Amino acid sequence: MLRWKQRLIALLVVVMLLAGSVVGLAAGTAKNVIFFIGDGMGLAQRTLLYYYLGHQPVMNQMDVVGLYTTHMADGYVTDSAASGTAMSTGIKTYDGAIGVDVEKQPVRTILEAAKAAGKATGLVATVRISHATPAAFAAHNESRDNYEAIMIDILENEVDVLFGGGKAICLPQELGGTRKDGRNLMNEFAARGYTIINTPSELGLATKFPVIGLFTPSDMTPEIDRDPVQEPSLAEMTRKAINLLAQDEDGFFLMVEGSQVDYACHDNDAARAAAEALALDYAVAEAMAFAAKNPDTLVIVAADHETGALAIGKQYQFDPLTLRRIRASYGQIARVVEETGDLVGTVKEYTGIELTEEEIARIENADSLARGITDVLNDRVGVIFGSGDHSATMLPITAHGAEAELFGGVYDNTDIPKKIAEAMGIEF
Ligand SMILES: [Zn+2]
Repeated sequence: MLRWKQRLIALLVVVMLLAGSVVGLAAGTAKNVIFFIGDGMGLAQRTLLYYYLGHQPVMNQMDVVGLYTTHMADGYVTDSAASGTAMSTGIKTYDGAIGVDVEKQPVRTILEAAKAAGKATGLVATVRISHATPAAFAAHNESRDNYEAIMIDILENEVDVLFGGGKAICLPQELGGTRKDGRNLMNEFAARGYTIINTPSELGLATKFPVIGLFTPSDMTPEIDRDPVQEPSLAEMTRKAINLLAQDEDGFFLMVEGSQVDYACHDNDAARAAAEALALDYAVAEAMAFAAKNPDTLVIVAADHETGALAIGKQYQFDPLTLRRIRASYGQIARVVEETGDLVGTVKEYTGIELTEEEIARIENADSLARGITDVLNDRVGVIFGSGDHSATMLPITAHGAEAELFGGVYDNTDIPKKIAEAMGIEF
C-alpha cells in the first residue's frame, strides 16, 4: 500500500511539473502581431471617435487597457520620431531620431528582431512610408528629415509588405520624383522581387509578398476628402497586408499607422480628426476579424503622442451630431470658399450649418479664412484645441488576443516593444 501511495505522489508531482512547464511556455504564444499606432491619437481623440460613431469603436472594446508615458531623452513633449523609436527599439532618444540612440548609433528594432526570428514583416501608413513612424521601425538615421537615406534603409531592410504614400522619394527627378542621387528605388524594389502596385484596384493583383504599393507622390489624401478610386482606405491596405503576411508559416509582425489624426489635430480640425480615427478603427476591425480566426494573434492599438491638447466640451456644450454632419476637412471647405467666393453657401453645403451674422463677421475678421472657419466650426461642435502642437499627456493602449494581458497597467512607451518581444517569444 505504501508503495502505491508513493507512486501516486510521484505521479502527481510529475503531472504538476508538466502543468507548470505548460504554463511557463504560455509566454510567447503570439505568432502574429498587428501593432496599430494612431499618430496624435490620445484619450480625447479616442473619446471623440466614440461620440462621432455613437457607440464604442472596436479599438475601445478590447480586453486589456493600459496607460503609458511618452517623454523623450531631451524633452517632455515628444515628436513622432523619438516616440516611434521608443516604441520600435525600447530606448529613449532625442527629438528627430530614427532608430538611433542619443549617440546616433543604430539600435535594433522590433521589426528587425521579428524578421531575424523568421517572421514576415509589414509597414502600412497613410503618410509617406519614409515618414517618422514607419521609418522608426525599418530605418536608422540621425534625422527624420533625411528621407532619401531613410527610404534606402527601408529598401535594404526588405520589409515584405509596404503600403502607403511617398512614391516621389523613390524616384529620380527626371521621372517626376524628388531624389537627388538619381536612383530609381522602384526599379530596385522590382529587382529584389517585389510586386509593384499603384492603384486600389491593383491591390487584388498581389498574391504573395514582397509587395510595395505607394499610392501618392507624398502623403495620402485626408480620409474625409479621399477619392476611393484613386487611393485605398487604411482598412483595405491593412486587410491586404494581413492576407499576404499570413502566408508565412512562422507568423508576422505588421505595424499599421493611422498617420493623419496628427495632421488633423495640428490643424485643429475636429471633423478630419474623427474621420481619421474612424478610418484607423475600420483597419483595427480587419485585424480583429483575422484574430478571431487566428487566436495566436496579438492586436495592439496605441499612439505616439497626443496632438492639439484636444478638450471635448466648451462651456458645458458638446454636439457630436454637428460633428457627424461635417463632410469635408476644414481646409477643403476654405479652399472651396476661396474658389467660389460663397462662404455661407459652402459652409451650409459641407456642414449643414447656417452661419449667423456674428459668425460671418468672425470668419471675415480672422487671421485667415481657414482659421476663421476652424474656430467657428469647433465652437459649434463644442471642442477646444489647446494648441497646434503635440502634448505630453499619457496615452491609452488597448490589446486583444495572444498575450494581451502583458499590456495592462501603467508603464512607459519604451516598454511596448519589450512586451511585444515577450509576447512573440523572440530575442530582442
Ligand atoms: Zn506623431
